Formats: sequence, C-alpha cells, structure tokens
Amino acid sequence: MAEKSLLLEVVTPDRQVVSTEVDIVVAPGVEGQFGVLVNHIPFLSALEIGEMYYRKGGQVEYIFIGGGFAEVTGAKVTILADSAERGKEIDIERAKRARERAEKRLAMGRTAEIDWARAEAALRRSISRMKVAGR
Ligand code: ATP
Repeated sequence: MAEKSLLLEVVTPDRQVVSTEVDIVVAPGVEGQFGVLVNHIPFLSALEIGEMYYRKGGQVEYIFIGGGFAEVTGAKVTILADSAERGKEIDIERAKRARERAEKRLAMGRTAEIDWARAEAALRRSISRMKVAGR
C-alpha cells in the first residue's frame, strides 16, 4: 500500500523521546548507517551506539542513541533504544565525567574482558553524546 507519510517514534525503557512525522530518518545500524523514506520495505536492524537524525521540511534534529533496535515499515520507523537523548537534553559535563571514568579504566589495561567492554561502550556513549550535544 502506498503510504503518504512516515512516522518516527523513538522510545527508551523510561520514556518516549520523539513521536513525529518526518521526511527521512538516518540511523546507526550495526551493519552501517541506513536511511529510511516513506514506503521503505519492512526490515529490522540492531543499532550501534551513535547518532541518528531526522529531517522534516528544512529542519534537522540529531538524537543520541545508546544502541538498540529499529523496526521499519512503509509508514513507521520505531527506534527502541537502550538510552536516547535529543541534543538539548544532553548534560555535557556528565558526558565528560563519563568519558574520564571510561578512559581511566581503559588506561588500566585489559585486566578483565567484561570491564574492558563495558568501559569501551561507556567511552563510545560519552563521545557520541558530546558530538550530538554540539550539533
Ligand atoms: P553515566 O555514567 O553518566 O550514567 P551512561 O552512559 O552509563 O552514563 P546510560 O546507561 O546510557 O548512561 O543512561 C542512563 C540514563 O541516564 C538514561 O536515561 C540516559 O538518557 C541518561 N543519561 C546518561 N548520560 C546523560 C547525559 N550526559 N545527559 C543526559 N542524560 C544522560
């Protein structure tokens, strides 16, 4: 069925971050960034830590995504994110502190794989948050 509009919903376990009609959504899939227009074929994708954005008219809004899943249909993109914030919601000082903690852990070397992976993910979240906050 030919759809006329594309709805974007971004939700986390805590809240709905975005629910709006958009022209295009671009999101960080685990196999690379992907873009979705109305009437896209349906698909599911896991998401990386990173930034997504949507465009509506001349407006572009960037959103931090802490990993998760995307479900795409011809009429709707649902982003189920582990955490997500619009740029203006990001506390830059908090992200800096998170980056410093992660860097300290990583500087200690690869003593335990799990702590290493957690610290690496925390570092990627903090760097992405700072990038989105500056958009
Ligand atoms: P921190 O160590 O500062 O908690 P984190 O990367 O471990 O950072 P998450 O587990 O991704 O945090 O998110 C936990 C909750 O805190 C989520 O609701 C997320 O939206 C929020 N959050 C985390 N960092 C920030 C930030 N810098 N600004 C605004 N909200 C944040």
